[in-house]
Amino acid sequence: MPILRTLQEAGYEAYFVGGSVRDILLNKPIHDVDIATSAFPAEVKELFHRTIDVGIDHGTVMVVTKEETYEVTTFRTESTYQDYRRPDHVEFVRSLKEDLKRRDFTINALAVGIDGEVIDLFDGLADLRNKILRAVGNPHERFHEDALRMMRALRFVSQLGFTLEPQTFEAIQEYHSLLAKISVERINVEFVKLMMGSFREAGLHSLVESECYIYCPGLREYGESLLAFADLKGPAIPTERQAWTLLMSRLKMTPEAMRGFMKEWKCSNQLTKEVIQMVPALEFRLVHEWDNWSLYQLGRELALSVEYLLQYFDHEPNLAKVRLLYQNLPMHSLKDMALKGNDLMAHFDYPRGAWISSTLHALEQEVVEGRLKNNNESLLAFAKTFLEEEMT
Ligand code: ATP
Ligand code: MG
Repeated sequence: MPILRTLQEAGYEAYFVGGSVRDILLNKPIHDVDIATSAFPAEVKELFHRTIDVGIDHGTVMVVTKEETYEVTTFRTESTYQDYRRPDHVEFVRSLKEDLKRRDFTINALAVGIDGEVIDLFDGLADLRNKILRAVGNPHERFHEDALRMMRALRFVSQLGFTLEPQTFEAIQEYHSLLAKISVERINVEFVKLMMGSFREAGLHSLVESECYIYCPGLREYGESLLAFADLKGPAIPTERQAWTLLMSRLKMTPEAMRGFMKEWKCSNQLTKEVIQMVPALEFRLVHEWDNWSLYQLGRELALSVEYLLQYFDHEPNLAKVRLLYQNLPMHSLKDMALKGNDLMAHFDYPRGAWISSTLHALEQEVVEGRLKNNNESLLAFAKTFLEEEMT
């Protein structure tokens, strides 16, 4: 409010716009607050003590306050989209209407002024009430201008449980192949939000029915698997790695294929590594109780994360039990083992080689599985027998 007031007192218009307006009206929690103004970026910067140029070419200045940062964006129009993504250039304008016109969906094209009045030039309020997702203006033109909007539409279906207005849906079906022009990173962001939405089933069905999935990385052959993913009943998936894990568990790929798939999606190495561990652990947990070795290898966080996923398969997760089992493991990492590689070298007269790590590994598993006490003496005794067999 103080930001809006400052802008207004300086003679400019200023409004809340975008997702925060939509989510407030839907009684949902909000995250980022976007402000739109008739002031040009240089004029915005003059009015506030602390600002950061985050996207000044696109008219966005970040205003920094003690508590928070806010994106303040100059009213703008976007013109001549030549490659089905991002506008060639943006033009700053002084009219709110021009700014709202370039927004994707009617429910995202609402503005709220300082007095709390909702400015609704495209019947977004009615669409909010009727739970309808409708493109602003001619949907064919809008998706042709920027193909990412199709993925945004599908993720809003999944997040909000709204229905695609028929012509909007038709236009998506018509232009789905333009998604091939959009960078994987941007598709990834929307796809993850789609997987994590409360209305995942509807979102995934729209993804398949519109055939947009064909133009998503690596999914061309997996329409049926996406529907199998959609069939999993349960609450919104809480984390990104759980979402990928459930998806991958339905795609039934080898670990190598998973790695390639997630690379195509430009997922981070860390995320990929975690998912490749979680998928087989989930398959395992669906038919077995946890054992020490699986828990140990997976680690506490991933094991809890996998346990939570049981509910999507009609199994009851028992997180407290996993915490306890994990806590009671004889050790939690190789660092906890009472015998180190150096000790092995000192005691056994073999030349340095692979025997060290294979012995450590055997000891590690014996200790974790509770067959061997974690003290120097028992470990050395075991190593001796182990090596006698190994080295002959
Ligand atoms: P979220 O709650 O996920 O942030 P959002 O609707 O706020 O959803 P943002 O990406 O933060 O999404 O965009 C803010 C606003 O900018 C949108 O509400 C919409 O008005 C507009 N917008 C964003 N991306 C596009 C786009 N590709 N085409 C047209 N308008 C867009
Ligand atoms: Mg937003």
